[in-house]
Amino acid sequence: MNNLLSLNILQLEDYFISIGEKKYKALQIFEWLYIHKEYDIDKFTNIKLPLREKLKEDFNTDFIKIKRKEEGTDVKKYLFLLQDGNYIEAVLMEHDYGKSICISSQVGCNMGCAFCESGRLKKVRNLETYEMVEQIILIEEDIKDKVNSVVIMGIGEPFDNYDNVINFIRIINHPKGLSIGARHITVSTCGLVPKIEEFSNLDLQVNLALSLHAATDEVRSKIMPINKVYNISKVMEAINKYIAKTNRRVTIEYVMLNMINDKKEDAIMLANLLHGMNVYVNLIPYNETNNIDFKKSNKINEFKNILISRNINVTVRKEFGGNISAACGQLRSKEV
Ligand code: SAH
Repeated sequence: MNNLLSLNILQLEDYFISIGEKKYKALQIFEWLYIHKEYDIDKFTNIKLPLREKLKEDFNTDFIKIKRKEEGTDVKKYLFLLQDGNYIEAVLMEHDYGKSICISSQVGCNMGCAFCESGRLKKVRNLETYEMVEQIILIEEDIKDKVNSVVIMGIGEPFDNYDNVINFIRIINHPKGLSIGARHITVSTCGLVPKIEEFSNLDLQVNLALSLHAATDEVRSKIMPINKVYNISKVMEAINKYIAKTNRRVTIEYVMLNMINDKKEDAIMLANLLHGMNVYVNLIPYNETNNIDFKKSNKINEFKNILISRNINVTVRKEFGGNISAACGQLRSKEV
């Protein structure tokens, strides 16, 4: 049986049409779920009883559960228990500009980035759409507030679960859904080129972030195995096409790893690679984890200044909750 929170509005309309009902009922369902936060189908009072019974035959509205919560300054980290016993995590961050949630898209990850805790544990399965939607609903309920933005940067490679992730975005973006503006939603990928191309044609103004992390294939292949499939020139070509098509600025993520990618020459090569492109670089302070040897770089400012001097837009990501195992995947690792 399908979870009702896995369907976007068009899918719900199709469902109602397929059972000989009017398609506007889809909007009524969205209002119950996402505006009134009512998940008991029996209480959908503007839907007639026989139709409610039919809905209950075809769908459930089961929820994942918050298993554990850790709180730090400006950050809350949630461990969720899924119905099949798997764990995932999400993080709520307080920025100057508002609250954002980082959600997971898979149980584990197969991309195998050497520095990443999430990838140490291989992919078990993709998340269903409702499991992504419910991470947001449960956190908003927990904090009794709405969030401003959502980043799909938790456990998993979102473009390795493309269809469910896009469905999820359609649901949270819909005005009668969770109503989070497309410009406030960011998908981060390690660089799955065919999916970047598909994403370019999407009818939604969602932000794209690329985890680049190195300016040469030699370094990138060492820390990101995906580079052996889609190397830097292939991935940058896809990004250039995306920018040409959408006219949108892309975020280039660059995690600063001591002695790996943080030298002056690395900064210069990165500036050359990105020269003239409509991108900005987000330098990420590495969150060290016990299980992995990589160390945090102390040259972030130097690196940043070189990029600035070469006219590259750059920001340094605010650090959240290293003290509460907020490095992505750590809570789950402890539990598994
Ligand atoms: N698979 C997607 C999204 C999840 S990872 C991607 O690769 O973009 C989200 C970001 O966190 C990526 O840029 C990833 O490289 C980075 N990251 C992973 N482990 C980290 C750590 N321990 N400290 C800081 N950033 C990390």
